[in-house]
Amino acid sequence: MSTNQLYAGYQSELVDFRLAFSRGGAYTAIVLVLLGVGLDYGQYPQQQFAFAVARVLVSLLIAAVVVVLYSAAGRRFAPWLTLTWLLLPQIMIAWMISQTEGVHSPYYVGLNLAIFASGIALPFGLWQNVVFGLLSYLLYVFACLLHPGGIEPLGTFIVNSLFLLFAAAASAVYTYFNERARFMLFRLKAEVAEKNAELEVINRKLVDIKGQMLQQEKMAAIGTLAAGLLHEVNNPVNFCLMAIEVAMEEPQAKESESLTECLVDAKQGMQRIQHIVSDLKTFAYRKPGAEVEGTPFMFEKALDSSIRLTAHELRGVKVTRELPADTLVLGDEAAIIGVLINLFSNAALAMRKAGTTAPAIHTTVRWSEGRLHVTVRDNGPGIAPEHLARVFEPFFTTREVGQGLGLGLSISYAVIERHGGQLFAESELGQWAAFSFDLPRAE
Ligand code: ADP
Repeated sequence: MSTNQLYAGYQSELVDFRLAFSRGGAYTAIVLVLLGVGLDYGQYPQQQFAFAVARVLVSLLIAAVVVVLYSAAGRRFAPWLTLTWLLLPQIMIAWMISQTEGVHSPYYVGLNLAIFASGIALPFGLWQNVVFGLLSYLLYVFACLLHPGGIEPLGTFIVNSLFLLFAAAASAVYTYFNERARFMLFRLKAEVAEKNAELEVINRKLVDIKGQMLQQEKMAAIGTLAAGLLHEVNNPVNFCLMAIEVAMEEPQAKESESLTECLVDAKQGMQRIQHIVSDLKTFAYRKPGAEVEGTPFMFEKALDSSIRLTAHELRGVKVTRELPADTLVLGDEAAIIGVLINLFSNAALAMRKAGTTAPAIHTTVRWSEGRLHVTVRDNGPGIAPEHLARVFEPFFTTREVGQGLGLGLSISYAVIERHGGQLFAESELGQWAAFSFDLPRAE
């Protein structure tokens, strides 16, 4: 943050601060001015009535300034309004001095009190404070001159003048350091806020990295599991299938309709297991972080193929796209088509299930830092935040039992990872879901 920006922020915060203090100070002043009747009673009992009227009048005027302070204009002119109400008791005291003993009057102490209070209790600026101190002193001189005795005795006048000027100087110095301390405090606050914002960003990045690492670890564990499973399951499945084939050729099987039906069911079940096992192969033989293998292909063509292959599911869905002219990437074209088919059919299915009106899928493709970044976004029901982190987990599905295996996205994740890229999901529940991945450019 630049010093100018910082100063602007400080000024706006200061306005509120000053306004609050000005009001509080004004209420205190009203109370003190009215309580001053006690002083009049002790020092000038013969003037009691006239002074009491003056005190009430000044209190009412201060109250009027407070009313203005609450308005929009009051906010803008707060420092000047504060100076105005502070001068009201000073004028009153000066008038009292001129009406009583002039230089001999002890009421000049009241002027001193206000000068100190303006520096200590009010968040005044340095110049306002200096102006207030000087005006208070001039009022004192004026009051003495108005009195029939003038500035006599000179010695007392000089002592009182010096006390007033000392008070003004001390108050100005105090105001100066007070203001500096206020600014430093504000600067510290702004710096802490800035650092907090930076920490927030770092924290979010760390959470992202942690999520990615967890995902990679999970995939590696699935890989080991899948390799073992492939080995253990493939052989029995194959000989079961062969046995079923043989059994189906037996005359008893051909004669009995129910037996044939049973064998067909068993065969279909075994074939399903075979498919699952072949899907799991993607995990079993993947090497995280391995060099991309494959051949150069046009991503645009892969996109065309996948849209064609999902034409049936995409009926009624508006499919649009945005592609650069050249989309030559390096990789396993068939696997990438598989990923796209998975993303399109997931989106189509989610939108159909949710009954989305005007369902649409938009694919955006762009180059960035030598990689092709692809985003497939639909305007379907979106994904709940608690599911978002789990969609890439093998066997995670929200489909009904038997309808989806929950392997599509986890296989796609592994495919993209093999290409040195990353597949990730974003969504706003009830609004949209987007899946993005990136592929290397073919040199
Ligand atoms: P399956 O499609 O077999 O359920 P996937 O791994 O392909 O398995 O998807 C896992 C889950 O992710 C889905 O069951 C669904 O809840 C969610 N999902 C995937 N794509 C979308 C999408 N475009 N909109 C909403 N949910 C989605």
